[in-house]
Amino acid sequence: MLRIGHGMDVHRLVEGRKLILCGVEVPHTLGLLGHSDADVATHALMDALLGAAALGDIGKLFPDTDMQYKGADSVELLKTVMAHLKEKGYAPVNADVTIVAQKPKLRPYIDQMRARLAQAMGLDTDLVNVKATTTEHMGFEGEEKGISAHAVCLIETIG
Ligand code: MG
Repeated sequence: MLRIGHGMDVHRLVEGRKLILCGVEVPHTLGLLGHSDADVATHALMDALLGAAALGDIGKLFPDTDMQYKGADSVELLKTVMAHLKEKGYAPVNADVTIVAQKPKLRPYIDQMRARLAQAMGLDTDLVNVKATTTEHMGFEGEEKGISAHAVCLIETIG
């Protein structure tokens, strides 16, 4: 059986933080604020996967009040999400992630992002897509106040 999931997330852009997207550090003057590494794209993907499996969301799994997750590498959290899915009898089929950011240009990092996520999910890179769009300077992403991300995925029952 196939199941579909959707996730979205938003983090604020601030000075003095690294910009980590899909587990890749992207050089920029601003970074995302959050309890973990604030990897908004990986957070959206995790919520899509958890949604597909009806396992709740990352806030339930990794509470931001838990000091264990302070500065956490979100790709490591993604591996934990995959373990929860496997335990419930599900395997990922494919995923598609959209990052909404006015700046910086993400194209040079897209393939590295796909590879990083695919490896953590145990998938071929061909089964993971990452894309980016601006909002033509409109809204909080366009005004460079924050970055949002959306993700959809399919999972299937194992065996
Ligand atoms: Mg988040």
